[in-house]
Amino acid sequence: MGIADQVSASIRAISPYQPGKPMAELAREMGLQMGAIVKLASNENPLGMSPMAREAIARELADLPRYPDGNGFELKAALSARFQVTPERIVLGNGSNDVLDLIARTFLNPGDEAVFSEHGFAVYPISTLAAGGKPVQVPARDYGHDLDAMAAAITARTRVVFIANPNNPTGTFVPGAQLEAFLARVPANVVVVLDEAYTEYLPDEDRYDSIAWLARFPNLIISRTFSKAYGLAGLRVGFGLGSAELIDLLNRVRQPFNVSSLALAAAAAALKDQAFVARSADINRRGMAQLIGAFGQLGLEWIPSWGNFVTVRVGDAAGVNRRLLEQGVIVRPIGAYGLPEWLRVSVGLPEENARFIEALQVALHPGAGQ
Ligand SMILES: *Cc1c(COP(=O)(O)O)cnc(C)c1O
Repeated sequence: MGIADQVSASIRAISPYQPGKPMAELAREMGLQMGAIVKLASNENPLGMSPMAREAIARELADLPRYPDGNGFELKAALSARFQVTPERIVLGNGSNDVLDLIARTFLNPGDEAVFSEHGFAVYPISTLAAGGKPVQVPARDYGHDLDAMAAAITARTRVVFIANPNNPTGTFVPGAQLEAFLARVPANVVVVLDEAYTEYLPDEDRYDSIAWLARFPNLIISRTFSKAYGLAGLRVGFGLGSAELIDLLNRVRQPFNVSSLALAAAAAALKDQAFVARSADINRRGMAQLIGAFGQLGLEWIPSWGNFVTVRVGDAAGVNRRLLEQGVIVRPIGAYGLPEWLRVSVGLPEENARFIEALQVALHPGAGQ
C-alpha cells in the first residue's frame, strides 16, 4: 500500500476548493496587461481597504522579525468594544475559514455528522471531511437554506450545523426571526455555526442582532471576516464569537500564531473605520442595481442577492466563462456548487461592472456582428 492509499477515505473524498483565477495567471495565459483585466471572481472589496488599515500595516512592518501576539490582545479588545462581547468569547482566525476549520476539528469526531445546505459554502464539506466527519447536504429551497429540512436532518450523530447568511454562492438570505426560531429547535448539544461573512452588506431593514442570541444559545458560534467589506482578503483574518466554554476549546486547537502581526494590526484599525464599511456597502448597492439592471435587459435570470455578488443564469456557463476570460474578465463558474448553468459575479466599481456587462454581451452571442 502506498502512502496515498493509507490516507482516510474521508480525506480522499475531498473535492479541492476551486479559487477564483488570479489576475496574474490570466495575464500570462492571454498575454494581457494586468491593467486590462477585471476580476469579479472572489467577492473582494472593489474599494480596496481603509487607509487606516494601510497605515497600521506600514507601522507594523518594523516589528515583523518578532512573533505576533498569539492572544491577539489588541484586536480582541477592539472587537470586544465594538460588539460588547468579552475577549474570552472571541477566537481569531487566519481568515474565517480558519475558524470554520477549527470548529470542524474541535467538535467532529470521526463519523460525526455536519449538516449544511445544498449550494452552501465549499469550505463546510472540506473541513468536515478533513476532520473525518460525515457531510450531510440538505436540498436547498429556492437556492437558499431550507431550515425546516435542515432541522429534520439533525440526528443523534449530528454535532455541527453550518449556515451562511447571506449564503455564498447564491446570495440568499434567511430573515433573523427564522434563524432565531431554528436555533430554538436545535438540540443544545449541536453546535450551530452562523457564518456572517457578508453581514455588513445587509440593508438596515434586514439586520438582526445575532450577537444578542449568544446569551440564550450557548451552542451558537458566529463567524465573521475582514475579507469582504473590510477589504483585507489577502491578509487573512476573521473571528468567531461564542460561549467562553466553546471558544476555550477552539483556542486549544488553534495554532498559537495563526494570525499574523500585520493582519492583527490592520484588522484592529479597519474596525475603527466604519465610514469605509458604510461606503463599501453603498457602492455595493449601486453596483448591484447596475448588474441586475443589465441582466434584466439581457433577459437573464438571476438570484436576488444580499451579498456583494450575484449569481446569473447563462446556460453554457463554461463557454460563456471562457469567452469572458478571453476578454480579460474573471468571474466564477459554480458548477462545483451544483449550479452548472450559472456564473457568480462579484460587484465591482461602476466601470468594472460596465466592462463585465459589455464582455458578457459578447460572450453570450459569440460570432454576432463579425
Ligand atoms: C468569503 C467567505 C468567508 C470568508 O472567508 P475568509 O477565510 O475569512 O477569507 C466565509 N464564509 C463565506 C460563506 C464566504 O463566502
